[in-house]
Parts: sequence; structure tokens; C-alpha cells
Amino acid sequence: MARLLGQRPCAITVGGEGDSFATQLRGFGLEKLYVLDPRAAPQWTPETYAQAVTSVALRRKPKLLLFAATPLGSDAGARVAARLRTGFISECVDFAVEGERLCARKAVHGGEAHMTLRWLSPPPWIATVDLDALEAIEGANRCAPQVIEDQVTLEAPRTELVRRWKVDPRQLALGEASLVVGVGRPIIARAQELSRLKEAAESIGAVLGVSRPVTDAGLMPKESQIGMSGNWLAGDVYIACGISGSAYHMMAIHKVRHLIAVNIDRDAPIFKSAELAIVADLFELLPALGELSKTTA
Ligand SMILES: Cc1cc2nc3c(=O)[nH]c(=O)nc-3n(C[C@H](O)[C@H](O)[C@H](O)COP(=O)(O)OP(=O)(O)OC[C@H]3O[C@@H](n4cnc5c(N)ncnc54)[C@H](O)[C@@H]3O)c2cc1C
Repeated sequence: MARLLGQRPCAITVGGEGDSFATQLRGFGLEKLYVLDPRAAPQWTPETYAQAVTSVALRRKPKLLLFAATPLGSDAGARVAARLRTGFISECVDFAVEGERLCARKAVHGGEAHMTLRWLSPPPWIATVDLDALEAIEGANRCAPQVIEDQVTLEAPRTELVRRWKVDPRQLALGEASLVVGVGRPIIARAQELSRLKEAAESIGAVLGVSRPVTDAGLMPKESQIGMSGNWLAGDVYIACGISGSAYHMMAIHKVRHLIAVNIDRDAPIFKSAELAIVADLFELLPALGELSKTTA
């Protein structure tokens, strides 16, 4: 985007770990990292993030400000746009320059259609970006971005965070869970092992799901089915154990960031899509993983 707009790619972060964060970002093309003092706000909420980013934007005059389309990024991004009285486009999946103007494409109707919008206001243009549309591409240049400690003075916030609840990951629906363990057909012949596998999944903080043959066999309720006619996953990690990788199962997991597959057959089709392929017996590996997490907890 920076190349397209003839700008230098920069980022803003809050926190004292600027140098180590900058080292992690080495190779991803960022030139400058503005690090804000976390003590600048009594609490970091969408309101205070928005104030801080607005203050940096007013001084640094970026052409485009991108936020992640997460609950925090969407809230803060819209606030910054309102403060700067500039155009805001949410959940973009692509950008292009047409003539002198920047256009953004976004999915609508649950991804069935797309529309293209463009900014009419002068820069900075503000957008949130659908994280599934992004890919981290390492370049040849291994330089870390230059860290610039930036000072911001914020107004007294008008809202404050009163309390937050930690959700027990095991209570989450499969589609909301960040870590899911899926178990396939082999469990049907060894149904007595199900509670042991459930316990192992719980020990690593995962929600347990199954493939269709398992729900068809009545071993688990339909709500726990992963696949085209069950739940669609969108979390960070899916550990598929004893699942061959049929198209009906795979189409519902394409949004998961990391796929780990465990199978006794080293030619199992699922290994072609897995980031980590483990040739092992799931009835040994899963309980061992559960035990390991207890000892390292
Ligand atoms: C209209 C339609 C809709 C469907 N919807 C879905 C759906 O929503 N979800 C879904 O899952 N399926 C769905 N299916 C079914 C789908 O086509 C497959 O039949 C199903 O996904 C296969 O499930 P599986 O991978 O568990 O079993 P299998 O294909 O039988 O694979 C079992 C795997 O376990 C491995 N294995 C065996 N023992 C062990 C062990 N001890 N340790 C490790 N690995 C072992 C084997 O090597 C094999 O790869 C649908 C089918 C149709 C026609």
C-alpha cells in the first residue's frame, strides 16, 4: 500500500517493548515504528487508543491509516475518522488506486458479493482491514524498523473499563474458539476413549469437535460436527486427529490460521494442507499432549 501511494510504511504501537517488537518485525518492510508511552492513558480502551492515534496522525500526517478489523480496531478506527472528520471504510479486503483516488473493496452479504468504495475526503484515509485478507510476506531486507518514541497528551477519557470476564474456552462454540481439537472416525470403534480425549482437549484449553461419521454414529451431538454441514471454524489453531481430509470437512476449516494434522497414515490427504503433519496414533498423542500441558502449566 505504501508503495502504491508513494509513502513510507510506518506503524504505531503502545508499550515499552518497542525495540524487541521492532526486532520481531524485521523483514516485513516496515520503516518506522512509533512507540507511545503506556503511561499516557490511565487505561487503554478504544477511546484512549483513538485519542492517541489521532494525536500522532495530526503531527505525522499519514496518507492512509489502517486498523485491524477486530472489535478494538473497528471501534478505535471509526473514532479516529470521526475526530479527523475524514472518510472511513470498514472490513476492506483489497485496495487499488484509480486515477488519483484510493479505492477499497469489501465483502458484503456474508461474502457472497463485493463492493468497491472510494474516499472523497482529503487524506488521511481510514480503513479497517479483514485479517483474513492479509498475509505476512518476508522480504529480502532484514532491517528492523526505526523505533521512535512518541509523546502524546490525552484528554480526560469519557468512559472507563469497569470489569472484564475471562471466558472459559471450553464453553465457546466451535466457530468462536481459537483452539479446536477435531477427532474423526477412529473414535467410533473405541468409544470408551472419548472421555479421555475430551479431558486431554480441555487440558490444552481446546474445544472438542468431530467429523460427520462421529455425529452420524450418535457418539457426539450434531452441534459438535465440523464441516460443511456442521460448524465452520475461524480460530488460530485446529488440531485434526484421525481425520482424512475430505472436501466436506476441509471447506469449513479454510479460515483457520494454522492446521495441525495427526494421522497414522503418512499418505493421508489432510497432510497436503497441514502446516504441521504428525504421523502418530491419536489415542497416544492426544492424551500425551494433555499430560504435557498439565506439567508445563
Ligand atoms: C452432503 C455431505 C455433507 C457432508 N458434511 C460433512 C461435514 O460437515 N463434516 C464432515 O466431517 N464430513 C462431512 N461429510 C462426510 C465426508 O465426506 C467424509 O466422509 C468424512 O469427513 C470423513 O470423516 P473422517 O475423516 O473422520 O473419516 P475417514 O475418512 O474414514 O478418515 C479417518 C482417518 O483416520 C485415520 N486414522 C485411523 N486410525 C487412526 C489413529 N489411531 N490415529 C490417527 N489417525 C487414524 C485414517 O488414516 C484416516 O485418514 C459429508 C458428506 C456429504 C455427502
